[in-house]
Amino acid sequence: MLIQLHSEAPPAEVRRQLQALGLWTRDLKDAEGRVGSMSIQAGSAPVSIEVLRALPGVADVHAPASPHPLVDHARGRPVTLGTTSLNDGPPILIAGPCSIESEAMIHDLASVAATAGATFVRGGAYKPRTSPHQFSGHGEVALTWIREAADAVGLQVVTEVLSENTVEAVARCADMLQIGSRNMQNFALLHAVGRTGIPVLLKRANGASIEEWLLAGEHLLHAGTGTVVFCERGIRGFDPHTRNLLDMGAIAVLRHEFGLPVIADPSHGSGRRDLVVPLALSAVAAGAHGVMVEISRDPSTALSDGPQAILPETLQALSEGLQITEQTP
Ligand code: PEP
Ligand code: MN
Repeated sequence: MLIQLHSEAPPAEVRRQLQALGLWTRDLKDAEGRVGSMSIQAGSAPVSIEVLRALPGVADVHAPASPHPLVDHARGRPVTLGTTSLNDGPPILIAGPCSIESEAMIHDLASVAATAGATFVRGGAYKPRTSPHQFSGHGEVALTWIREAADAVGLQVVTEVLSENTVEAVARCADMLQIGSRNMQNFALLHAVGRTGIPVLLKRANGASIEEWLLAGEHLLHAGTGTVVFCERGIRGFDPHTRNLLDMGAIAVLRHEFGLPVIADPSHGSGRRDLVVPLALSAVAAGAHGVMVEISRDPSTALSDGPQAILPETLQALSEGLQITEQTP
């Protein structure tokens, strides 16, 4: 960003005002050696162009055009998912198994989620698995199971859409479509999902910069999605103590710098049941509008992600920690 000074403005005074706002500058001199403008250094505080233009001594401000104008436009807009507001009240809770393993299991866990005050039940019918020999979900029939289970306890459904050819089937059953981390930059899938107009939970790819994540959101909005909820689920770290590195800074940036709806997934973000609650609470402190967690009654027999699934009583404790009101299903 470039700050252009009035010809009579003392550069030191303009620099002082900018520093007071948290902006670090570099002088740009004209042919006569006069400081005619200043560039703003990376890492400076986010301050609106309108505020900068109003400063004494500032003639104009030139900002490069944003590559994600639709995401920028979503800044600060209230977000409602069904009857759930992300802006008023306590953080939202999304809970359910990693994979929908059976009809009975998703009915049981939807009820556990509802009792804990969740507003969405989650669970994968189509599972992206690192090995082709692992359980990859029951497919379309599991979509009907999760829809019925959610309806029975008054919850909404969020479930992953893995490929373009299943967008229609998932859109028929889900209130929010999940784009998994592995598909964050599958632009053809983003466009197909965007065309449904259904809200999207957009997971961050484990190697994506915040800018790339925002641009994935831009693809969705451009294709027709009305609401993109960003989901931080951890990026690849170097330390094997955790499965991923839950990026609290990214949550704070999305909430406080970009004013966007953001949810944390401490289950995939840590891979460890014992860290889910503390990371969920930290994420909300950093600015998350809610959390999504995986649950199981018997994690040792779960067909996917057992080590990170929390028990129903831990979900209840998390809900109390987040000050979510309990529900009677
Ligand atoms: C999931 O939520 O089930 C999932 C596969 O997550 P991610 O895309 O973050 O790995
Ligand atoms: Mn999982």
